[in-house]
Amino acid sequence: MSLLELQGVDAFYGESHILRDVTLGVEEGEVCSLLGRNGAGKTTTLRSISGARPPEVRDGRIVFKEEDITAMSPEDISARGLSLVPEERRVFPNLTVAENLHLAEVSENRSNTVGRSLGQVQVEHVGMTTEEVYDEFERLRERKSQKAGTLSGGEQQMLAIARALKQNTDLLLLDEPYEGLAPQIIADVEDAIRRISDSGTTILLVEQNAIAAMDIADRCYVIDQGSIVFEGTAEKLRADDETRDRYLGV
Ligand code: ATP
Repeated sequence: MSLLELQGVDAFYGESHILRDVTLGVEEGEVCSLLGRNGAGKTTTLRSISGARPPEVRDGRIVFKEEDITAMSPEDISARGLSLVPEERRVFPNLTVAENLHLAEVSENRSNTVGRSLGQVQVEHVGMTTEEVYDEFERLRERKSQKAGTLSGGEQQMLAIARALKQNTDLLLLDEPYEGLAPQIIADVEDAIRRISDSGTTILLVEQNAIAAMDIADRCYVIDQGSIVFEGTAEKLRADDETRDRYLGV
């Protein structure tokens, strides 16, 4: 079984039916990418997986590590090792890099305590230490006393990813990590994602920037109007002119 499976998921905002029978799987250790145009349903898919509401999942199942997480709270899902880095990056701008990382640790301890008191969660893998995070992101080490709000867009993205890695993360969901970044900075963030993947974290990456996403992904899905219209390796998608032209405009 895949690490994460969506099985025939239908999701709604009120009466708006957004995800239609979405079935996809993310295999342990891979970088999987979900691509699609503006408004195709990418963020809705990530929010459905991470337990954020809205949207409301009305049909189908979401299974993580062979456990049904469809109706779980975001806190219970996160305690099982699934972290979402949302599009808006959510770092605390007035706190330093070091303080931002420290806060991630505090919230991790809290969610583990909740998990233990429920008596259900086994924490198989605790998050990275601050030193390990700085080893992955030398740039953050150099800027540890700098206010997060004064970091560049790429550095803020790295800090947002680093915060997620300080928590217990087996599957990292990244919502448009390249958005608004210059090409050189995209390359830096790509390197960081590759290193995280090499160290064993599975990644599901949502992107509008199909070229950059195909570069890094092992496998891709394409979503259009809430339905999956393509599934295959990055090579297969690169060779499929019709799908790229029709659904991605590249
Ligand atoms: P983008 O690349 O622009 O971020 P996306 O593929 O992530 O797009 P979603 O954010 O998942 O797209 O949106 C899918 C559809 O759901 C869009 O038509 C959007 O307008 C609608 N939608 C998103 N959030 C809400 C909401 N809170 N209430 C109602 N409709 C919403």
